[in-house]
Amino acid sequence: MSDTESAAPTSPRSLDPLFSPRSIAVIGASRDRTSIGFAIVHNLLHGGYEGAIYPVNPHARAIHSVPCHPDVAAIPGPLDLALVVVPKRLVPATVTACLAKGARGLVVITAGFGETGAEGRAVEEALREQVRAAGARMIGPNCMGIISTDPTVAMNASFSPTPARQGTIGFVSQSGALGVAILNLAEDLGLGISQFASMGNKADVSGNDLLEYWEDDPATRVICMYLESFGNPRRFVDIARRVGRKKPILVVKSGRTAEGARAASSHTGAIAGADVTASAFLEQCGVLRADTIEELFDVARALDRCPLPAGKRVAVVSNAGGPAIMATDALVGQGLVMADLTPETTAALSALLPAEASVANPVDMIASADEVAYRGCLAACLADPNVDMALVINVTPLLSNPHTILAAAAEAARGQEKPVLVVMMAADAFHDEIKGRRDLPPVYRFPESAARALAQLARYAAWRARPAEEAPGDFAMDDQAIEGHLDRAGADGYLPAEAAFAVLEAAGVPVARWRFAETRTAALAASREVGFPLVLKADAPGLVHKSEVGAVRLDLRDEASLADALDAMTARLVAAGTPPRGFLLQELARGGHELIFGLSSVPRLGPLLMFGLGGKYVEVFRDVRFAVPPLGELAARDVIRGIRGYPLLQGVRGEPAADEGVLIEVLQRLGQLAFRHPRIAELDVNPFLAGPSRQTARAVDVRVRVGSGVV
Ligand code: ADP
Ligand code: MG
Repeated sequence: MSDTESAAPTSPRSLDPLFSPRSIAVIGASRDRTSIGFAIVHNLLHGGYEGAIYPVNPHARAIHSVPCHPDVAAIPGPLDLALVVVPKRLVPATVTACLAKGARGLVVITAGFGETGAEGRAVEEALREQVRAAGARMIGPNCMGIISTDPTVAMNASFSPTPARQGTIGFVSQSGALGVAILNLAEDLGLGISQFASMGNKADVSGNDLLEYWEDDPATRVICMYLESFGNPRRFVDIARRVGRKKPILVVKSGRTAEGARAASSHTGAIAGADVTASAFLEQCGVLRADTIEELFDVARALDRCPLPAGKRVAVVSNAGGPAIMATDALVGQGLVMADLTPETTAALSALLPAEASVANPVDMIASADEVAYRGCLAACLADPNVDMALVINVTPLLSNPHTILAAAAEAARGQEKPVLVVMMAADAFHDEIKGRRDLPPVYRFPESAARALAQLARYAAWRARPAEEAPGDFAMDDQAIEGHLDRAGADGYLPAEAAFAVLEAAGVPVARWRFAETRTAALAASREVGFPLVLKADAPGLVHKSEVGAVRLDLRDEASLADALDAMTARLVAAGTPPRGFLLQELARGGHELIFGLSSVPRLGPLLMFGLGGKYVEVFRDVRFAVPPLGELAARDVIRGIRGYPLLQGVRGEPAADEGVLIEVLQRLGQLAFRHPRIAELDVNPFLAGPSRQTARAVDVRVRVGSGVV
């Protein structure tokens, strides 16, 4: 995939000639019914496109009974959009002719460019420059086309054998082949599309451009993306954070890319593989991630038709016990909570149901439940202040009509501010009959898929409920001093220990009191400034895990034991071939939770922060979270609270809790440090010992690597 997406501000409106053209030329239109050039003309005609269609082919008089033109210049009227299907070698001249004719939108379907290597990439780049210079926009090359179901446009400019029905989903697919499958599945589910674009090589228009295009498009209520790579991840973060406030963005992200392939010399670098990085930043932008297209559509349907829940408490209303239990497991497994129904609600349910029914959540109305029971019980649950959303389950018993049950559920759900999803365990024929009915609540075949959709609704709602543009905070730090310390990096990029600590201090991160000494004598003198008991550490070039080679001595009580430790440590390191260049004397920190803070610079994304349980726990539990700065206070708090071991930080079995405010601030400060000093390629604070107060929170070990500063 080409990742040459420019940062130049190309206005979203520049995509109008692509999605609402008044005239379309198909260059390379063909009479051969098996060709793409035929399929496109066919789809345009059958889709009911309203504007002028100009097939171009020097060897045909008419295609599909539409008169054909020998070349672009011969097209009789003005031209908005050019669909280019000619052989590869003719593409550059064709694009030139289309631009000369006034086309401001181009969709290049022809393949054989950037995806084939350097030569193809060069042609592709030249095309982009040419298109941009003309003030036009291009989708592709190597794509399957675009679709707009807006009734005033009705344009199927693709070679998909399945048309798209009108609807509210904007879909961008990075894969053309998958695009066909996506449209098929959408049709199977009766899901409507507002606009669809297959991106191909993204030489000009990218997924980011489409996000911006759909930001204010009233027809598009949910944005779905199938992505293989992020052309410009930093721009994606910025756009998604903004657009996600207005409408949900759902992503299926496949493929591992070079994004996470970094030197594994730091914990942050080693743990932050491509996939966690992608997940972390998607989640933080409020983007919902699905594993499959099917799951994506399950969630999209719910987002399209339901209000957002105020919390994560679910009521389940079922006519069978088994599926209700399955649903409960699935809901809880997704992190949702079974609602605790109020006594008023249970009384109302009892009045509606036979004595054998179960009126606690999950509500089992038993097999005799008819539409009156469904309507009444669902209404009672939705009226309960302890309920944020409802899941209705119906197993079609003999002789009962699933349509009346669904209608009853729809009636109770209508006008409610709480989402209602319905699981109908009914025959295929039933599901076919109701497909595409946007007046009904979203219907699923199995409790698990409905539970997943509810969980994603709750996740998105929680993200949306957070204040929008949270200020990242502006922390005082000594930038000039920091730059000076960074200048001291060695040939391998690593800072000497004292420079690394000095960077942290200048950034305002609390650090255990320390002194650095180059010699034994200086170390003994410095010990008086640090005070006993203290910690002795040796620093040597290339020395990474100090404690493993005996370069850390904790709890030295007096000068005599310090002198002995200095001698022993020096002898050991000399023998190991890593003679110390100096010694770090540190105050002994007592107690506190061992945490890790990390910072690493990801190509094309920029800085990535990491937080988690530190010390030896990092290797064992990998209990860490990632975040893309800048971080506001609430976003930073989410990161801290997001680790599995967070309850440990709150204090268990009489242990004091860690001061959370300090942790939030350290994370925010590291984010600011990263932006102000992009030369920092990696920074690991491990451990940071977090006690119950600001005074008992401090870094005791840090490594900093300086890179080129080019992100
Ligand atoms: P390394 O990670 O290179 O082995 P550290 O400096 O992180 O070396 O020290 C190893 C461990 O020793 C830390 O994880 C921490 O548990 C403990 N430690 C280090 N410095 C101090 C200190 N100043 N006070 C208390 N404990 C410390
Ligand atoms: Mg360490």
